[in-house]
Amino acid sequence: MRKSMVAGNWKMHGAHESAVQLVKAILQGSERSDNAEAVICPPFVYLADIARLLKGSDLVLGAQDVCAEDNGAFTGEVSGSMLFDVGCRYVIVGHSERRSLFGENDAMVARKFMATQRAGLVPILCVGETLDQRQNGETQAVIMRQLKAVLDAAGIHSFEQAIVAYEPVWAIGTGKTATPSQAQEVHALIRACICAGDARIGAAIRLLYGGSVKASNAADLFQMPDIDGGLVGGASLEAHEFLAICEAVG
Ligand code: PEP
Repeated sequence: MRKSMVAGNWKMHGAHESAVQLVKAILQGSERSDNAEAVICPPFVYLADIARLLKGSDLVLGAQDVCAEDNGAFTGEVSGSMLFDVGCRYVIVGHSERRSLFGENDAMVARKFMATQRAGLVPILCVGETLDQRQNGETQAVIMRQLKAVLDAAGIHSFEQAIVAYEPVWAIGTGKTATPSQAQEVHALIRACICAGDARIGAAIRLLYGGSVKASNAADLFQMPDIDGGLVGGASLEAHEFLAICEAVG
């Protein structure tokens, strides 16, 4: 049985004090079931402090991005081994904001995916279509292109230690959520594509849905057979919402 997961992407929100308060409130929240993993992905500069707060808890730390290189003269960048050092276990790779605002193409996303794994971290690979692409009937082609770019570069076996998040761009931060059946259709496609490379890896990989997930819609999404949890932006900034989403997945 696949362990479910809820990952909170805090993006560039908050400040040191609010980050600490948010973590403390999440830690004080209700117990999560053993079958669900909760991950928080704060901004880089708060990771080390938050890692100290998480010690001994079952809440896991992730980062929002990583450098494609392992070390060297890359001013402003943060490597996978640095993230591992401070206590991260997951890295979000290829978020649509990185793709659209910071020019990350499929090749760069694949390099970041591999850099994440070289550092012993697990990538949460984001894929998703824009509204125009969906309206033009290109959803399947876009998702397959984004996924295959990583499969071709990293190989099917790399997906043994990876998570894929389907995040329709039109649903991120918009309040418009994909319906459970729209999301399930794409999740089934992603799983079939990975199964085509290796049936065991395809059956075991965890697939998250992201795009305006809230406590009020989480249970309906998570009951779909190929949705193993959520990648949550806005709602992860409120402890009670995040905890309620974690409960819905458990
Ligand atoms: C995200 O940032 O990955 C995301 C899904 O955001 P939101 O939940 O706010 O739509």
